[in-house]
Amino acid sequence: MDKTLIPFAMQDVPRYTSYPTAVQFQPDFSGRTADDWLVALDPEATLSVYVHIPFCQQLCWYCGCNTSVPNSYDRAARYVDYLVRDIRRSAALFGGKKGRVTHLHFGGGTPTYLDDMHIAEIVDAIDKGFGLASGGEMALESDPRTLTRERAKVLAGIGFNRISFGVQDFAAPVQMKINRIQTYGLVAASTEFLREAGFTSINFDLMYGLPAQTVESVARTAQQAAGLKPERISVFGYAHVPWFKKHQKMINDAELPGITQRYNQARTIEAELAASGYAAIGLDHFALPEDALSAAARTHTLRRNFQGYTTDVSDALLSFGASAIGEFPQGFVQSARDTLDWSQKIDRNESPVTRGLATTPEDRMRAEVIERLMCDLTVDPGAIAQKHGFAADTFADIGQKLEDAAAAGIARIDQGRISVPPEHRLFLRTVAAVFDKHFVSAPNRHAKAV
Ligand code: SF4
Repeated sequence: MDKTLIPFAMQDVPRYTSYPTAVQFQPDFSGRTADDWLVALDPEATLSVYVHIPFCQQLCWYCGCNTSVPNSYDRAARYVDYLVRDIRRSAALFGGKKGRVTHLHFGGGTPTYLDDMHIAEIVDAIDKGFGLASGGEMALESDPRTLTRERAKVLAGIGFNRISFGVQDFAAPVQMKINRIQTYGLVAASTEFLREAGFTSINFDLMYGLPAQTVESVARTAQQAAGLKPERISVFGYAHVPWFKKHQKMINDAELPGITQRYNQARTIEAELAASGYAAIGLDHFALPEDALSAAARTHTLRRNFQGYTTDVSDALLSFGASAIGEFPQGFVQSARDTLDWSQKIDRNESPVTRGLATTPEDRMRAEVIERLMCDLTVDPGAIAQKHGFAADTFADIGQKLEDAAAAGIARIDQGRISVPPEHRLFLRTVAAVFDKHFVSAPNRHAKAV
């Protein structure tokens, strides 16, 4: 890595899966407001639904998700009961048309920690309450260690057509350091089961920056992953925050790759995936050219939301489960992180939302500027400002703010248009932060750029 890039790579910057980011959500936000926004939804609105399942069979030491390992399955069964109650309560408030749920996403944790009967029960509650659109996307995050041929068929029978796996790295020394042993053979077999069952889209998550990872190990993993031909591959840098995620203390700081190694690993994965025919999408996604994500990137219709890059253009995102984030035209809502707080609110027949943010017209304008940059690697901020009723010179000072980034080559400024060269896509968040009015550069507030 060129030395001039190091300060940018070290910078803590948001992931911009939303703007304003979740750090800005207000802690005194009323659940009643969340209910009011649901009631006020346009009856014709198309909906996306996110369901959070905060359970796993075993903790991976690198995990940054809101999850836990329950002592017994009873805890998960009770959680499903509360989830279904909250879905029914929300559906009773929703006055819109049924059958407008075009995207359903189960995330976690490991949604397949739940048994099939409970997964089917949740899907049924969403279908009865809001109505799943025919031909819509039904996706779930899974763990190949929980999948069998039979299970893949049952999940397809429930209606799931997309799945995402955490693969991270196939190298055994890396897997041992992160407490996640899953062989290449296991992932290959799971992929085959899913294909046989009729899943039309498979995503693998890969990581760099893990202990024992080398440029050689990530190159080999990227080649092996690409050889299984998942439609999409997402690549994330490990964020080491043991003061926030206690189990990460199991990872020895001294064994973590440094910033230059992280950068080299990320660029190596990118090169291997490109050589295997994958198109680079936005910051950190890759897709086969015939995949909908690649098509959306080509036509500049790609979107970015809490699940990363997507083709989802729904009018609202309804969310269910502890810590789940939803989005309405008026702003963002987030349910209580703690499952006890969350369930107590549902017991009182209240919204479990405890944090949120009503967005302003300026927030929405800046959100579009940041989203287009994160998706297209280029944006005309003045044109977007005007579209939202703001002055064309709203971002007149941007050249000055981007002076250092432009000198380092990670940003280009041409007649008001800001672009990030494709070879510097890893620095997209750094450039996007210039448009973030709330951004405060502080250590450990966000993940490192690289
Ligand atoms: S399976 Fe996923 S959510 Fe569960 S601990 Fe591992 S990384 Fe975290």
